[in-house]
Amino acid sequence: MASPSKDNAASKALDSLKNHHRSIDVVRIFQELITGNRAALGEAITLIESTSEKHKKPATDLLSKSLTVSGRSIRIGITGVPGVGKSTFIDAFGTYLTSIGKKVAVLAIDPSSPISKGSILGDKTRMEKLSMDKDAFIRPSATSTTLGGVARKTRESIMLCEAAGYDIIIVETVGVGQSETAVHSMTDFFLLLMLAGAGDQLQGIKRGIMEMCDGMSITKADGDNRKKAEFAKSEYTSALHLFPEKTDGWMPKVNTCSALENNGIEETWKMIQDHYHWMVSRNIFEQRRHEQDFEWMNETLKELVLDQFFQRPEKMKKLLDLKEQLLKRQITPFQAAEIILKA
Ligand code: GDP
Repeated sequence: MASPSKDNAASKALDSLKNHHRSIDVVRIFQELITGNRAALGEAITLIESTSEKHKKPATDLLSKSLTVSGRSIRIGITGVPGVGKSTFIDAFGTYLTSIGKKVAVLAIDPSSPISKGSILGDKTRMEKLSMDKDAFIRPSATSTTLGGVARKTRESIMLCEAAGYDIIIVETVGVGQSETAVHSMTDFFLLLMLAGAGDQLQGIKRGIMEMCDGMSITKADGDNRKKAEFAKSEYTSALHLFPEKTDGWMPKVNTCSALENNGIEETWKMIQDHYHWMVSRNIFEQRRHEQDFEWMNETLKELVLDQFFQRPEKMKKLLDLKEQLLKRQITPFQAAEIILKA
């Protein structure tokens, strides 16, 4: 249930929206959004994902109003190579969370979609149980021409989901090395799903991704695979001890799970909660969120500056002129960049 201060903040935000957008649907969307209406949440995300100029202002307004009622959730990043069992795990994990009274939103960052327009995460029918659950909201990856664009929209979607009252936000990505840093920089807990036994235990997933994780779960720990999973758990536990200590001092935990048999799901939630309480008790939780906001502002600033720069015709003209000289090796790339900057 919404707290009085949340209600108050929401009603103030709504009043100021009414003054700005008498003719558009932003007021209705916001009003329905904060009552937890899933269709309105979908509509809100579509609005912020829109690249149309005319949607920019209402989208910005909707976001700044949502900011006043967002921030109260645990944000969990989940990654792992294709086939490790992410969607099956999230289906079981999300269903467990709704069974204990949580509202769960699942967003995806799919690095393949900007590049190939194809999607590793979005194609299959995924999370069958959770997609039928009234307390869950599942949204496939935003599309954008850049990973930075997808990441920004996912961050904004997190805010909207929080404004709609979702307590747990899961951001899923494929563990192929491009989008993990982005997901790590927008979540409170970063969970890495791993398979047991494929030859060298540390193969297949980049060391940098392992260093980022707050917890690891060895998937498919059922049937003949159970023993291998237990073995992998102890291997990874030792491996994590060899990594440099995380800046916040947290020692990542490892467990095993089977989404098919519903084992280890509750333990994974306990691991995340332990981490949450650990962070809160040391005042690290808020601090990490503040750092993330600051990072988000910096990244957006860089994007905006770049956009503005390349929209200036004199820069583009100079760029094309110099391209020729660059190809003929009459000038170095560094010199060319300096000339364009000064143009
Ligand atoms: P994703 O590509 O990481 O999303 O992986 P999926 O969730 O689609 O799972 C890949 C395959 O592993 C599917 O055939 C699943 O049925 C299977 N799988 C997923 N979780 C488990 C599990 O807990 N136990 C077993 N035995 N198989 C699983």
